[in-house]
Amino acid sequence: MAGELVLVVEDNDKNMKLARDVLTAKGYRVAEAVTGEEGVKIAHEQVPQLILMDYQLPGIDGIEAFRQIRGDATTKHIPIVAVTASAMPEEEAKMKKAGFDGFLTKPINLKEFVSAVADTLAKGKGAA
Ligand code: MN
Repeated sequence: MAGELVLVVEDNDKNMKLARDVLTAKGYRVAEAVTGEEGVKIAHEQVPQLILMDYQLPGIDGIEAFRQIRGDATTKHIPIVAVTASAMPEEEAKMKKAGFDGFLTKPINLKEFVSAVADTLAKGKGAA
């Protein structure tokens, strides 16, 4: 399982550091984007095996970035897990409606985070 590239789209430094530390400790490679626009660009250039997408971002939000990634033939197959603030249940409702492949809430629970990454990567492989 080691070595898959995971793109983290997150504008909060602490959350980015946590995601990076956990993912690299588990043997994944990490690409990072701090805006939705940058996430769309890096997804197209690096074609990661999984994307973790924050909802609240400067510029376009996580749902618009999701739509652009899904609308690009190069990236439309990549599983995308939504990351929402647990204090904002309406964010999760919007992201569920948009059709994300998985959901995580912040603050991040490490065990849930690691399982969501591993499970979504495993499903992605099955579909490919
Ligand atoms: Mn954010």
